[in-house]
Amino acid sequence: MNLSFRDSKLALKAVDTIKKLSKGESYSFMHVCGTHEQTITKHGLRSLLPENIKLISGPGCPVCITPAEEIDAAIAMAEDGLTILTYGDMFRVPGTEKSLAQMRASGSDVKIVLSIGEAVKLARVEDKKKFVFFSPGLDTTAPTIAAEVLRGLPENISILNSLRLTLPVMQLLMGMGDLHFQGFIAPGHVSAIIGTDVYNLIAETHSMPVVISGFEPLDVLITIALLIRQVNEGKPKVENEYSRVVNSKGNIKAMEALERVFKVRSGRWRGIGRVPFSKLEFRDEYFNADAMKRYSVKLKKSVDIPPGCSCHLVIIGKIEPEKCIMFGNQCTPEKPFGPCMVSSEGTCNIYYRYGSHA
Ligand code: SF4
Repeated sequence: MNLSFRDSKLALKAVDTIKKLSKGESYSFMHVCGTHEQTITKHGLRSLLPENIKLISGPGCPVCITPAEEIDAAIAMAEDGLTILTYGDMFRVPGTEKSLAQMRASGSDVKIVLSIGEAVKLARVEDKKKFVFFSPGLDTTAPTIAAEVLRGLPENISILNSLRLTLPVMQLLMGMGDLHFQGFIAPGHVSAIIGTDVYNLIAETHSMPVVISGFEPLDVLITIALLIRQVNEGKPKVENEYSRVVNSKGNIKAMEALERVFKVRSGRWRGIGRVPFSKLEFRDEYFNADAMKRYSVKLKKSVDIPPGCSCHLVIIGKIEPEKCIMFGNQCTPEKPFGPCMVSSEGTCNIYYRYGSHA
């Protein structure tokens, strides 16, 4: 772990507290955030913790959970001569048969952008072309898309929307009988948008402890100590370790923008399947912004997980990436075989770069 002298002393103190609180009993906690997995793996937190504390990596990588059918739809649009703009991670994720990177290699017009803002600027400059911005993302990305739609998109750009919500998948994970964990490490940046109050449902209805956590190693260690204390006391509640950023109501302006632009419906997550009330869909009045409707593209039957890839198990934390026989040989960040190896937020990618393999 690479920390300042002061923070390293605090980290050791936090680990000591965790050891004292846990008293050798077993505890498992799940996070649902690629950035948390980066903090945990990059700083070797699992090796710092006693063996009786298990940290499970859940579905927190937006690119990994974008279903192949939506990548296939972007590919179909590229084949129809539209210019596809998307993030660098999404560019390389395989759909059923190929990726957008392969489409570009075979002559289609596919470009990488850093944001919806950059995509809109490009559309304004090249006003004779028709653009589609392919946007995966979770609660954090969605408000930027909503804000741009409310500002008014240029006529020649629309959005292939793959935006999903985190809270519904957390609810689904609790209902998976063979997944066992005793608390959630909730994502700090998502919580900055949705607030802390929304997690009361999980803590009160499902008796599941929730601690909203920041992204420094110390944040995660303190979060683990708070979760253990909740389990020991048998009083599940929502605690906010990341109060320097997150408040109880979230970002009200961002939530209002989401409400104006989108409605919520059930949607598929790659490797998980249908998750009730987890997908954002454009309201009817934003027909022109909705690339699927505007270009009458229908989702087709797709293959989410290629035979041999275990992403469906990695995404829900049932296995660690190193248990996949492809890991590190047929599947590497340079030559990804499955979706979890592509993005810097994908669990396989993180384990490859910072885990015992690295
Ligand atoms: Fe899939 Fe590759 Fe991860 Fe295996 S290592 S689960 S093939 S992404």
